[in-house]
Amino acid sequence: MILILEPNVERDSERFNQLTKYLDSNERVEYSMHDVHGTEQVLTEVYLIGDTAALSMDYMKSLPCVDRVVRVQESYRVLGRHGEKDRQTGFTYNGVTFSQDSLHVFAGLCAVDTPEHVELMMSSLKDLGQECTRMGAYKPRTNPYSFQGHGSECLPWVFELAGKYGIKVIAMEVTHESHIEEINEALEQTGHPTGVMLQIGTRNTQNFELLKSVGRQKTHPVLFKRGFGITLNESLNAAEYLASEGNPNVIFALRGMKNQGGDPHRNMVDFTHVPVVKRLTRMPVCIDPSHSVGSRDRAPDGMLDVFHATAQGVIAGANLVLVDFHPAPAKALVDGPQALKMDELSWFFEDVAISREAYLKRRQRASDR
Ligand code: PEP
Ligand code: MN
Repeated sequence: MILILEPNVERDSERFNQLTKYLDSNERVEYSMHDVHGTEQVLTEVYLIGDTAALSMDYMKSLPCVDRVVRVQESYRVLGRHGEKDRQTGFTYNGVTFSQDSLHVFAGLCAVDTPEHVELMMSSLKDLGQECTRMGAYKPRTNPYSFQGHGSECLPWVFELAGKYGIKVIAMEVTHESHIEEINEALEQTGHPTGVMLQIGTRNTQNFELLKSVGRQKTHPVLFKRGFGITLNESLNAAEYLASEGNPNVIFALRGMKNQGGDPHRNMVDFTHVPVVKRLTRMPVCIDPSHSVGSRDRAPDGMLDVFHATAQGVIAGANLVLVDFHPAPAKALVDGPQALKMDELSWFFEDVAISREAYLKRRQRASDR
């Protein structure tokens, strides 16, 4: 059961004291409090566990400071919507707000290689008014002999370049808990010129110990990729590990499924799940057309398959697009064949804007009914 308290409730008020006194007196129920920071208000949610079946919804609603009461299913306790249409979604990080209503594009390098390429990428994004990018420093590779990423060594100059070009959030995968510390040290050393969204890759979706470590830190939000060979329900449960450890600022990324039916794409594109994840959970939803499609193939209409897949996700209401670009795809150390080229960057953003506008019109039409 979740008690959603009135907005901006004062923790030292008499009414709040009465509420905690009542909760403390009930020995069959334990509780924890989570603050959900929205743009205009802080909502405190009280999670009750134990013998909650015995509690009356009406009585709990009558307690001081309680605005609403939600009976949760066992799954996705913190991140789930539990049938509540109006639950607050999203969070603000380093001045950028992410929610189930917003849209941000994280175009960038799959893997950081040279300072020249990183600088060219970031300066091009700045020219287009962008504040977010993707930059991989730790790469989980199928083949142990493949390039594994520059690791901590590249972090200081990547962060400094981000600061130089006004990039506020970098999506960066971590594959081991020590990487969180390395990122924090490099941010500290460079004076926090940017923010980092910690990415969990599809190969680590069910690496529960990594999820617990990332969930225990509350500084950075998390971009969580669905597992490419497990059910959606299993992936959503894995995302809940982050929230259950204390970090509910999670974005759920669709990135295609391993399935021979997906051929000739690298994976079977799963962007029809965008509205499904929004219905089941409060997480903003990301699409990754690059790792889904996996090529620069072009349809007879002149558009690359990556553009088409992006449009399909955005028109269905995606909140974030993670997409690979590279100044010289032939020289990229990871995933060059799927990278878009710099002279396609503004075209890509224009194409996303068309789909976004169509989505907003579709949403308006639905709300008028
Ligand atoms: C990536 O985004 O660079 C990546 C490795 O993605 P995934 O975990 O989805 O394969
Ligand atoms: Mn990649």
